[in-house]
Amino acid sequence: MAGIFAKIAAGEIPSYKCAESDKFYAFLDINPLVKGHTLVIPRREVDYIFDLDDDELAEMVVFAKHVAAAIKKAFPCRKVGMAVLGLEVPHAHIHLIPMQTEKDMNFANPKLKLADDEMAAVAARIRENFEAEGK
Ligand code: 5GP
Repeated sequence: MAGIFAKIAAGEIPSYKCAESDKFYAFLDINPLVKGHTLVIPRREVDYIFDLDDDELAEMVVFAKHVAAAIKKAFPCRKVGMAVLGLEVPHAHIHLIPMQTEKDMNFANPKLKLADDEMAAVAARIRENFEAEGK
Protein backbone atom coordinates (compact mmCIF):
# COMPACT_ATOMS: atom_id res chain seq x y z
CA MET A 1 0.00 0.00 0.00
CA ALA A 2 1.27 3.44 -0.97
CA GLY A 3 2.53 5.64 1.86
CA ILE A 4 1.51 9.22 2.53
CA PHE A 5 4.22 10.88 0.40
CA ALA A 6 3.55 8.57 -2.57
CA LYS A 7 -0.12 9.52 -2.30
CA ILE A 8 0.84 13.20 -2.16
CA ALA A 9 2.98 12.84 -5.31
CA ALA A 10 0.10 11.06 -7.04
CA GLY A 11 -2.32 13.86 -6.07
CA GLU A 12 -4.41 11.49 -3.95
CA ILE A 13 -3.67 13.54 -0.81
CA PRO A 14 -3.57 17.34 -1.09
CA SER A 15 -0.32 19.24 -0.75
CA TYR A 16 1.04 22.71 -1.42
CA LYS A 17 2.88 21.93 -4.66
CA CYS A 18 6.09 23.86 -5.35
CA ALA A 19 7.49 21.99 -8.36
CA GLU A 20 7.26 18.70 -10.19
CA SER A 21 8.84 16.63 -12.93
CA ASP A 22 8.10 13.17 -14.26
CA LYS A 23 10.29 11.63 -11.53
CA PHE A 24 10.21 14.10 -8.62
CA TYR A 25 7.77 16.23 -6.65
CA ALA A 26 8.33 19.19 -4.31
CA PHE A 27 5.80 20.47 -1.78
CA LEU A 28 5.71 22.50 1.41
CA ASP A 29 6.46 20.78 4.68
CA ILE A 30 3.20 20.89 6.61
CA ASN A 31 5.06 21.95 9.78
CA PRO A 32 7.68 24.34 8.43
CA LEU A 33 10.72 25.43 10.39
CA VAL A 34 10.68 28.68 8.39
CA LYS A 35 8.55 30.06 5.59
CA GLY A 36 9.48 28.26 2.37
CA HIS A 37 10.53 24.96 4.02
CA THR A 38 10.05 22.51 1.16
CA LEU A 39 10.34 18.74 0.75
CA VAL A 40 11.62 17.06 -2.42
CA ILE A 41 10.68 13.44 -3.03
CA PRO A 42 11.08 10.87 -5.79
CA ARG A 43 7.71 9.67 -7.09
CA ARG A 44 9.07 6.13 -6.67
CA GLU A 45 8.59 5.03 -3.09
CA VAL A 46 11.90 4.16 -1.47
CA ASP A 47 12.40 4.63 2.27
CA TYR A 48 16.12 5.32 2.68
CA ILE A 49 17.56 7.97 0.38
CA PHE A 50 20.86 6.11 0.02
CA ASP A 51 18.97 3.07 -1.31
CA LEU A 52 18.09 5.08 -4.44
CA ASP A 53 19.93 4.11 -7.60
CA ASP A 54 22.98 6.28 -8.26
CA ASP A 55 21.34 7.96 -11.26
CA GLU A 56 18.06 8.57 -9.44
CA LEU A 57 19.84 10.10 -6.44
CA ALA A 58 21.94 12.33 -8.70
CA GLU A 59 18.83 13.47 -10.61
CA MET A 60 17.00 14.13 -7.35
CA VAL A 61 19.78 16.39 -6.10
CA VAL A 62 19.81 18.29 -9.40
CA PHE A 63 16.01 18.68 -9.20
CA ALA A 64 16.41 19.92 -5.59
CA LYS A 65 19.01 22.42 -6.83
CA HIS A 66 16.46 24.01 -9.17
CA VAL A 67 13.79 24.03 -6.47
CA ALA A 68 16.30 25.67 -4.09
CA ALA A 69 16.95 28.41 -6.67
CA ALA A 70 13.20 29.05 -6.87
CA ILE A 71 12.92 29.15 -3.06
CA LYS A 72 15.81 31.62 -2.84
CA LYS A 73 14.17 33.95 -5.37
CA ALA A 74 10.79 33.69 -3.63
CA PHE A 75 12.20 34.10 -0.12
CA PRO A 76 15.54 35.92 -0.20
CA CYS A 77 17.90 34.28 2.27
CA ARG A 78 21.63 33.79 2.77
CA LYS A 79 21.51 30.25 1.46
CA VAL A 80 19.04 27.40 1.11
CA GLY A 81 20.10 24.58 3.41
CA MET A 82 19.60 20.94 2.54
CA ALA A 83 18.98 18.20 5.10
CA VAL A 84 17.98 14.56 5.05
CA LEU A 85 16.49 12.93 8.15
CA GLY A 86 13.74 10.51 7.20
CA LEU A 87 13.05 9.32 10.72
CA GLU A 88 9.35 10.18 10.59
CA VAL A 89 8.19 9.39 7.06
CA PRO A 90 9.61 6.28 5.33
CA HIS A 91 9.76 7.81 1.84
CA ALA A 92 13.08 9.42 0.86
CA HIS A 93 12.93 13.21 1.03
CA ILE A 94 15.23 16.21 1.05
CA HIS A 95 14.36 19.18 3.25
CA LEU A 96 15.14 22.55 1.61
CA ILE A 97 15.16 25.37 4.14
CA PRO A 98 15.82 29.07 3.45
CA MET A 99 18.42 30.13 6.02
CA GLN A 100 19.34 33.44 7.54
CA THR A 101 21.36 31.75 10.30
CA GLU A 102 22.40 28.18 11.07
CA LYS A 103 19.70 28.11 13.75
CA ASP A 104 17.10 27.93 10.95
CA MET A 105 18.26 24.35 10.33
CA ASN A 106 17.59 23.20 13.90
CA PHE A 107 14.85 20.58 13.71
CA ALA A 108 14.27 20.92 17.46
CA ASN A 109 12.96 24.47 16.92
CA PRO A 110 9.23 25.07 17.30
CA LYS A 111 7.45 24.71 13.97
CA LEU A 112 5.50 27.53 12.31
CA LYS A 113 1.75 27.33 12.02
CA LEU A 114 0.71 29.06 8.81
CA ALA A 115 -2.88 29.49 7.72
CA ASP A 116 -4.05 27.61 4.64
CA ASP A 117 -4.11 30.72 2.45
CA GLU A 118 -0.59 31.67 3.53
CA MET A 119 0.75 28.17 2.77
CA ALA A 120 -0.93 28.37 -0.65
CA ALA A 121 0.67 31.78 -1.28
CA VAL A 122 4.14 30.53 -0.22
CA ALA A 123 3.89 27.52 -2.56
CA ALA A 124 2.62 29.71 -5.42
CA ARG A 125 5.63 32.04 -5.11
CA ILE A 126 8.06 29.13 -5.25
CA ARG A 127 6.15 27.48 -8.11
CA GLU A 128 6.12 30.68 -10.18
CA ASN A 129 9.89 31.03 -9.83
CA PHE A 130 10.47 27.35 -10.63
CA GLU A 131 8.29 27.52 -13.72
CA ALA A 132 9.94 30.77 -14.84
CA GLU A 133 13.27 28.88 -14.92
CA GLY A 134 11.71 26.44 -17.36
CA LYS A 135 13.21 23.40 -15.59
P1 5GP B 1 11.56 13.32 8.64
O1 5GP B 1 11.02 12.00 8.13
O2 5GP B 1 12.49 13.97 7.68
O3 5GP B 1 12.15 13.17 10.02
O4 5GP B 1 10.32 14.31 8.83
C1 5GP B 1 9.23 14.28 7.97
C2 5GP B 1 8.79 15.68 7.61
O5 5GP B 1 7.62 15.59 6.83
C3 5GP B 1 8.45 16.57 8.83
O6 5GP B 1 9.15 17.80 8.72
C4 5GP B 1 6.93 16.74 8.75
O7 5GP B 1 6.49 18.01 9.16
C5 5GP B 1 6.64 16.49 7.28
N1 5GP B 1 5.35 15.85 7.06
C6 5GP B 1 4.88 14.75 7.70
N2 5GP B 1 3.67 14.39 7.22
C7 5GP B 1 3.37 15.31 6.26
C8 5GP B 1 2.25 15.47 5.39
O8 5GP B 1 1.28 14.71 5.41
N3 5GP B 1 2.30 16.51 4.52
C9 5GP B 1 3.37 17.36 4.45
N4 5GP B 1 3.31 18.36 3.57
N5 5GP B 1 4.44 17.24 5.26
C10 5GP B 1 4.45 16.22 6.16
